Amino acid sequence: MTIAISSSFDGGNIEVVRCESPEDIELRIPRDTHSDFLQWFYFRLTGAADQACTIRITGLKESAYPAGWPGYRACVSEDREIWWRTDTAYDEQAGTLTIHVTPGSGSIYLAYFAPYSMERHHDLIADMSGVVGVEIESLGKTLDGQDIDLITMGTGPLNIWMIGRQHPGETMAEWWMEGALDMLTDHANPVARKLLEVATLRIVPNMNPDGSRRGNLRVNGAGANLNREWAEPALDRSPEVYHVRAKMDETGCDFCLDVHGDEAIANNFIAGPEGTPSFSRRQQELLDGWKAALLERSPDFQTEEGYPVDKSGQANLAICTNQIAERFGCLSMTLEMPFKDANVMPDEMMGWSPERCGELARACLGATLAMTARLQA
Ligand SMILES: [Zn+2]
Repeated sequence: MTIAISSSFDGGNIEVVRCESPEDIELRIPRDTHSDFLQWFYFRLTGAADQACTIRITGLKESAYPAGWPGYRACVSEDREIWWRTDTAYDEQAGTLTIHVTPGSGSIYLAYFAPYSMERHHDLIADMSGVVGVEIESLGKTLDGQDIDLITMGTGPLNIWMIGRQHPGETMAEWWMEGALDMLTDHANPVARKLLEVATLRIVPNMNPDGSRRGNLRVNGAGANLNREWAEPALDRSPEVYHVRAKMDETGCDFCLDVHGDEAIANNFIAGPEGTPSFSRRQQELLDGWKAALLERSPDFQTEEGYPVDKSGQANLAICTNQIAERFGCLSMTLEMPFKDANVMPDEMMGWSPERCGELARACLGATLAMTARLQA
């Protein structure tokens, strides 16, 4: 049986250096489109059933986040539904990630994190379109001609926005969205029903369809890092941000959650807009209140680890969370989930997983409901 590696599918990304035998497979990660970032990999390995394979990914000193590799374990799946973790080691000196896996069948998939394909995105949108009270709208086109999908639901006066996957390789963000939407469309769920009564929710589950399909970590098809485009989005470079921000201007925004993944930090955390020029005591209290509400609801969340807080007035207004906080004077936050694991509740077999993303989303909706009275005031 010939061993083969392929990434010629939705979200796939790898380059084969050598694929001679199961114990001698060398791969490299291609750079994102028109960009220097490299980190996302997703490929299929065929013809190696029941053989101990050693896969070396080299050249990772040049990766976007070298700190993402120590302590990282690669994701593996046979059916592309269940993704577990396999033995992985990183040689910092060489910049080489060595993955050990023994395929249980003739075809397995390996990825940086459980992938979320554009086909699955369309399944999600199709599921939502059949739900009473849910509206689907295309806000415009990406540069590759894909739709920028907005899901609207709820009838209340509070304007809640949730967006995900500005960085397309952070697929945990769309798994989070799937969990959130599953809860919001469950008519037996009292938190969802109440939230839809007091608020109108606008959800963009995938801000970066072009980067997603191309298998990029951080940029769209034009090489733009969308989370650096919020100050001056341009139709010929970042139409995704241009259209979403324009819609926010039209509807207003009382609360915005921008969902991401972090390569290096092995925990869930929130990054707030503390350094924005007009950051207020009220925004600080809402930020503290929301984080406390989430801490009560999810043991997977923590507030010890995270990014350093920007000094007063030093925030980069090209970043979504900062731009929205400044623009609307509201509570605006970035949620970061790990590629590795949530070390406050480690799971050696699965690491941080799609299922855990979904659970965290449910807890986040609970925290948001707990804060609605204060968000409105
Ligand atoms: Zn991100």
